[in-house]
Amino acid sequence: MGEKEMKKVVVVGGSIAGLSCAHAFLKAKGWEVVVLEKARSVSSAGAGLGLDPEACNALKDWGIGDGLLQQSLPLSMEENRAIDSNRQAHIVARDESYNHRAVHWSDLHRLLYNALPAGIVQLGHEVISYEEESGVGPDKEPQVKVRVKKVAGSDVENNIQEYTGDLMVAADGSMSQTREKHFPGEKRRYSGYCAWRGVLDGSTECNAAAMVRRVYPDLGRCLYFDIAQGTHSVLYELPGGRLNWLWYINQPEPHLKGKSVTVKADEKALAALHEQASKTWVPELATLMQATTDPFINAIFDREPLSKFVWGRVVLVGEAAHPTTPHGLRSTNMSIIDAYTLGNAIQNRRLQGIDAALQEYESQRVLVTAQQVLFSRHLGQLKQGLLLPEKFSWISADQKIRSGLLQQNMHSF
Ligand SMILES: Cc1cc2nc3c(=O)[nH]c(=O)nc-3n(C[C@H](O)[C@H](O)[C@H](O)COP(=O)(O)OP(=O)(O)OC[C@H]3O[C@@H](n4cnc5c(N)ncnc54)[C@H](O)[C@@H]3O)c2cc1C
Repeated sequence: MGEKEMKKVVVVGGSIAGLSCAHAFLKAKGWEVVVLEKARSVSSAGAGLGLDPEACNALKDWGIGDGLLQQSLPLSMEENRAIDSNRQAHIVARDESYNHRAVHWSDLHRLLYNALPAGIVQLGHEVISYEEESGVGPDKEPQVKVRVKKVAGSDVENNIQEYTGDLMVAADGSMSQTREKHFPGEKRRYSGYCAWRGVLDGSTECNAAAMVRRVYPDLGRCLYFDIAQGTHSVLYELPGGRLNWLWYINQPEPHLKGKSVTVKADEKALAALHEQASKTWVPELATLMQATTDPFINAIFDREPLSKFVWGRVVLVGEAAHPTTPHGLRSTNMSIIDAYTLGNAIQNRRLQGIDAALQEYESQRVLVTAQQVLFSRHLGQLKQGLLLPEKFSWISADQKIRSGLLQQNMHSF
């Protein structure tokens, strides 16, 4: 295909959704791709996440299946345990067919980044506005003009550049300015709780890790949820012996600076957390939390599902399209599958054109992602005790109610 026939996509945001879209459009062939990311460097932040079989297949299709296998561990089962007032654990729901993989966010991000040809991702490029123009391209097709502020080194150059594409993909996250343009003033929904998160490096001689492995014997293949009165925690292993944990705590909405939902924990909050952990969780999990350096706090939000993701030649993907709470392990999976679906639609509808492809993407993703956002919300509320009578006990609940805790219910929600 000659350069003139190439189409161009401008992707806003170079996190998981944006990099996945770059892979999907390169795979579709006939596309020049540029990813504009405001961060100046590739982040090594984050913690663990679980990838489902569909997302793993997409990564394999983009040529990073082997890398993923090396950088991830199986999550082949899910176990939900109720913790009683004596801090004893009782298994209440278990699924041996939970076919996921556990990976660290920054390992996955780096895999996606390193597998792209040089020059595709433009770091330090912040999109400040865009506008659609109709019928100006060589074939009288609409185009999108994207204005970017280039931020280089430590100096803000304030150097404005313009990129023109046949299509703009907004992968700019849960505080997406593209979404804001279409829904001005739309508020995100605070869930009612925050998550403390941490990763303990248990690869070296680490007593806390050794202790926790004795009471969570399936670490390395199991996604553990411990549920106590009005709270729950999550534990699973990442490659390199790292133990990834989360603890959800009901509280008023914290005061957040800027767009970030992450808060750094101060010493006082950390001491209170350690004390509360030893009153709530089995001793080994409490010790693991106390031994983890630099845990951080994420305020948990989502938004109401949208009925559309496409406006002309502008399309939302990932968290920009469907910000979700983490309880269904969907956010990263939805981002990868959005990109994969969009790339396939572009490829399949080559003859019918871009607008037909965007309609196909929208029709395949709007309902299913809405279901997943609402299921995740429901599961979080259930596990945080927000939907249950005060005296409810998971230990004495009947089997049918207990099985409502399992991830596999997402498809029938
Ligand atoms: C540094 C980081 C660490 C994370 N760690 C985890 C984790 O450990 N576990 C987990 O489950 N999820 C994590 N997430 C969130 C996870 O990436 C998302 O929940 C999910 O994968 C969907 O990602 P996304 O690409 O749609 O959105 P996001 O990951 O939120 O990314 C949006 C991207 O767009 C960029 N951006 C926003 N506005 C502009 C603009 N105007 N111009 C240019 N760029 C812009 C942002 O800098 C960001 O890189 C992390 C996200 C980030 C950014």
